[in-house]
Amino acid sequence: MQYIDPHIHMVSRTTDDYARMAQAGCVAITEPAFWAGYDRSSPQGFYDYFRQLTDTEPKRAAQFGIEHYTWLCINPKEAEDLALAKDVLALIPDFLDQPNVLGIGEIGLNKNSRNELKVLEDHIALADATESLILVHTPHLEDKRKGTRLIMDAVERNGNIKPSRVLIDHVEEHTVKDVLDRGFWCGMTLYPDSKCTPQRAADILEMFGTERIWINSAGDWGNSDPLAVPKCHVEMLRRGHTAETIQKISLDNPRTFLGQSPRFNAK
Ligand SMILES: [Zn+2]
Repeated sequence: MQYIDPHIHMVSRTTDDYARMAQAGCVAITEPAFWAGYDRSSPQGFYDYFRQLTDTEPKRAAQFGIEHYTWLCINPKEAEDLALAKDVLALIPDFLDQPNVLGIGEIGLNKNSRNELKVLEDHIALADATESLILVHTPHLEDKRKGTRLIMDAVERNGNIKPSRVLIDHVEEHTVKDVLDRGFWCGMTLYPDSKCTPQRAADILEMFGTERIWINSAGDWGNSDPLAVPKCHVEMLRRGHTAETIQKISLDNPRTFLGQSPRFNAK
């Protein structure tokens, strides 16, 4: 079954992963900029990372027939350093016209700190000024609910960005309703040992429906699974969901949201 994995960090994955994803039906991925597992020592580290995301990785994906799109930002974890964040934010506009860039992401909050919030607001202003879509990372820890609300408040405070142009990722049982009720899109991340498992994601879809929601693997350098999306499909088929339902959350919905960017090829 064809699908899009709209959140995966392929710079951390092998070409074998690309091959297995293509065999499982993956036709496109989107790769948000994020923390590399270590703090970069300078803005130049981000400059090179943005070159990797906009030049190297699309070529690597194309070898397997997979379209590669990306999102740019300084992630919330490194945004604690305000001087570094300012320098990195200044680099982003030069990359926003690259053909595979969909918008600003994954921005958000990690520890819900004052500095993180300031840098989040600066990213939202940049998205507003450049009419970019936004992909949001929500905190993983006990502060997820509070962080999710703070982020949605910050978008609403900006006043110019429609919630339908913002996807709030890593939603779980206790945040999904709030996000949908306020008009935003939701992403569910399927992780082997935190966030949602395929079973929990299927439960959430059964409880809250299939409008404005997608699933992703968020595969990265840690314990994660680049085939999490097709594994969730198997779980949904086992429960009796139709192929149409599965196509909606994994192909139609990503195309609808991402298609708001003129750079996304929604064929
Ligand atoms: Zn991520």
